[in-house]
Amino acid sequence: MAMMRAARLHRIGGEMSVDRIEIPTPRPTDVLVKVKACGVIPNMKNVITHYAEWFPFLPLPPLPAIYGLDAAGEVVAVGDQVHAVKPGDRVYVNPGVSCGSCHACRRGEPVNCVAYTFLGYFGFGGGSSRVFRDYPYAGFAEYMTAPQSSLVILPPAVSYEAGARLGYLGTAYSALRKAGTRAGQSVLISGATGTLGLGAVLLALGMGATRIFALARNKALLERVRLLAPGRISVHSVDDGPFGDWVRAGTDGLGADIFIDAIGPGAGNGISLAGVDSLRRGGRMVSIGGMAEPLPLEMFRLMCFQISVIGSLWFDTGEGQDMAEMAAAGTLDLSVFEHQRFPLDRIDQALDAIDKRTGGFTNVVIVHD
Ligand SMILES: [Zn+2]
Repeated sequence: MAMMRAARLHRIGGEMSVDRIEIPTPRPTDVLVKVKACGVIPNMKNVITHYAEWFPFLPLPPLPAIYGLDAAGEVVAVGDQVHAVKPGDRVYVNPGVSCGSCHACRRGEPVNCVAYTFLGYFGFGGGSSRVFRDYPYAGFAEYMTAPQSSLVILPPAVSYEAGARLGYLGTAYSALRKAGTRAGQSVLISGATGTLGLGAVLLALGMGATRIFALARNKALLERVRLLAPGRISVHSVDDGPFGDWVRAGTDGLGADIFIDAIGPGAGNGISLAGVDSLRRGGRMVSIGGMAEPLPLEMFRLMCFQISVIGSLWFDTGEGQDMAEMAAAGTLDLSVFEHQRFPLDRIDQALDAIDKRTGGFTNVVIVHD
């Protein structure tokens, strides 16, 4: 019986232990991936310590559980109903799994599935417990199974470590798409030096946005963001006061076309509200950072100015493939990330390293041999 190592959590709030378990056999429509790199996302530690209390409506995987959200690796076996993926393919596993047959799935809206579940993280509904039963493996194990429909093929130019970043990049990409981003537009991004916000900056550049307004606090990190494209990116620290006039001054007095709110769950609503106020008529705000305070919005003004406020969760596998192609072509620059690699048996140090990261530029990954 072939065995593998997997970091497993045996109780919420406990530490992960590296256990030896059986390597799974993929079901007919699934593949077996030998995981090479898995991202350690900023929120992972919160999920394994607090989520059960914070968000009882988001089901966690049954214990003992294998975590690890953003995995990239090599396909080593395929089920007998797998068509276009073969052993040897380099892939990113989109961990957002849908059931395939509910009302939303039949309409081609996988993220709106009633059983939508993040493998190795948490689920979004009652149907998630069945998804966790079908797919109990994730990136903090040496091997994982995944549906053939959830694979992004990675071009040779995209390393496994960079591929393990596609999750948070994809969240920003899908938000920019929902906002209708196209070449020549202006985009305001809050939390722009963070893991999500920096991804939004990189993708806005790749999608042809010509004026990017990066908003955050840390001035040294903001300067690093500005230097990514000094002719297109301007920066503002929230420590330097209100930012609406700065956005309007850079858009001929109109306001931004798009506001991507990537500010984190702990923030108040002030920046989100001011961001909506910095939009031009017809502008769109998309929330992805998880700002958790209620937003008192003047709906009559939004109506008169045709301003949209949109919530966006994750991305679909097709959007993941878009990003892989952009990275291969050089329109999405993944070279800005500094990978911090940890072996599986140092998973606790990897989780701690997240707290010491240099904003979104640091990419903490678990790497398997
Ligand atoms: Zn479904």
